[in-house]
Amino acid sequence: MERIIIEIDESKCSGCGKCIPNCPEGALQIIDGKARLVSDPTCDGLGACLGHCPEGAIAIVKRQAQAYDERTVMANIVKQGPNTIRAHLKHLLDHDQIAYYEQATQYLAEKKVNFSPGQPAG
Ligand code: SF4
Repeated sequence: MERIIIEIDESKCSGCGKCIPNCPEGALQIIDGKARLVSDPTCDGLGACLGHCPEGAIAIVKRQAQAYDERTVMANIVKQGPNTIRAHLKHLLDHDQIAYYEQATQYLAEKKVNFSPGQPAG
């Protein structure tokens, strides 16, 4: 499918890693000194990582990509604990991604994940 997704310009990327914590979805990793989009289904294309790149190496493009998969993302998010879960839900609402938000909350309910402040991860 063609959709909005990020693209990393390898020639500009210094490998500083500043984008990584801003992608709790788990779409980015530093490999061989460069940031790489390691999984299309975990990139929502909303660009939370963009503003954290000092080199301007990340852009949003429209291209053929696998569909975004909220359930795969939630499996990554839940491992990072309640603060990350709440930040992810806010991120979805801030971008009017209501369908993804509903999938995320359904996942949390199914897995009986407590994401109240002060709860341990998982
Ligand atoms: S923040 Fe920018 S320069 Fe740094 S690793 Fe990520 S893409 Fe590369």
